[in-house]
Amino acid sequence: MRVREVQFEQEPEPVTGQGRNTELGIVTYTFVFLFLIMIGYLVYLNVWKADELNSSAYNTKQDANIDKYIRGSIISSDGSILAQTNISESGEEIRSYPYANVFSHIIGYATNGKAGLEASCNRDLLSSHASILTQLKEDDDRKTQGDSVVVTLNAALQNAAYDALGSYNGAVIALEPDTGKILAMVSKPDFDPNSIGSIWESLITDSSSSVLLNRATQGLYPPGSTFKILTSLAFMRQKPGEFRNFQYDCTSQLTVNDVTINCYNNNVHGQEDLKAAFAHSCNTAFATIGMELDSGDFRSLCEEFLFGRALPTALQHSTSQFSLDENSSYGDQMTTAIGQGQTLVTPLHMALLTATVANGGIMMKPYCVDHIQTYDGDLVSKTSPSKYKRLMTTEEARMLTEYMQETVASGTATALGWYNFSVAGKTGSAEYVSNGYAGTHSWFVGFSNVENPDLVVTVIAEDGGTGSETAVPIAARVFETYYNVYGY
Ligand SMILES: [Zn+2]
Repeated sequence: MRVREVQFEQEPEPVTGQGRNTELGIVTYTFVFLFLIMIGYLVYLNVWKADELNSSAYNTKQDANIDKYIRGSIISSDGSILAQTNISESGEEIRSYPYANVFSHIIGYATNGKAGLEASCNRDLLSSHASILTQLKEDDDRKTQGDSVVVTLNAALQNAAYDALGSYNGAVIALEPDTGKILAMVSKPDFDPNSIGSIWESLITDSSSSVLLNRATQGLYPPGSTFKILTSLAFMRQKPGEFRNFQYDCTSQLTVNDVTINCYNNNVHGQEDLKAAFAHSCNTAFATIGMELDSGDFRSLCEEFLFGRALPTALQHSTSQFSLDENSSYGDQMTTAIGQGQTLVTPLHMALLTATVANGGIMMKPYCVDHIQTYDGDLVSKTSPSKYKRLMTTEEARMLTEYMQETVASGTATALGWYNFSVAGKTGSAEYVSNGYAGTHSWFVGFSNVENPDLVVTVIAEDGGTGSETAVPIAARVFETYYNVYGY
């Protein structure tokens, strides 16, 4: 900018001494300007982008650190080793993962490229904050043991979630709504990171099952009826006078302009208010609500709730999609309102939406690195819980919680009503068609200890049928294990 100012202020002049000074001035300013840009770029790279660049799998600078440090360990919140480097008798460094497949996606791998926490924490694992004296005491005088990453993941809860999902493909996430701490994150199909070298070729050539995809953060699914949480919120906001007195007489089917919506299993839900329609997961009632909503405003609400946007996390993830706009047809409005149509979400996104309800309307940023410590246990840095944003009022969160409690009391998740802890939740049975095969994904989202929520659990079991039959029992086992581990 300064160069341009100089040029405009100076009139063209014959080449006199003064003119040459002007030219020199312009040249000097130009160089100063370019120099400032260069400095600015270096500062940007070194300060703002440093973490990203240092952790990038493409940054070869880390190879230098490999000669200086033995890759640090990754440790669970309950003290189990999840990844460590052992030195063989011949001096070879071997990365081992004692839990094999159980943590495969979230912990990731460090050879054949890097993924998961092995990628995002690469810089921490390949540096050391141990004191010089401690480093000198090391037996191996060539290399220093890198720092350890202690994660928020609990090995007992992760094991339970992994076992509960069983042979289904899909994902399970357990997180604390008031802190954003991720306590468990399972994705299937999985792989054994101990043998990543030998199975690599088969993993990358088998595109049909996408084994390497972390479905918890990167899988995009139709949300099915779990989306009725947002449809209800849109209804509350757009029709404040109507939603409390909403009445609908469900006859199990609704046809508008050639589009027919059915209630699951052709159930006839009869006369319902909004809470009952939510608890029964009545599709025809919600399709009717969908047609009453202004699609542009519904879209704005969903964008505010991070559809079409990045989630506030360092975890690699896909972007959820919401397709309604001002020009959408009744058919699109009906299918979108019940979580079908073009709407797609990641399980992590559904977990964050549920956590926002559980946390009185405030979304916390999810995280899974609790702290970094030296290999001998001195604290290096600790992650503090941090707020993303208030996305709904406490009153809106309270009403949605009430609807989700009704789902457990008298609706599609009554199997969760028999425990020592209370649960509020929503099931989903999301229909999909893949290569001519029509199936149903089984969803559950919910939280326990409703008065003062402890844990959010999100489950998707691919082709698992209804939410009630598959996802709810999986979630129940995760909640049970949580209270066995952490107490009531
Ligand atoms: Zn119905």
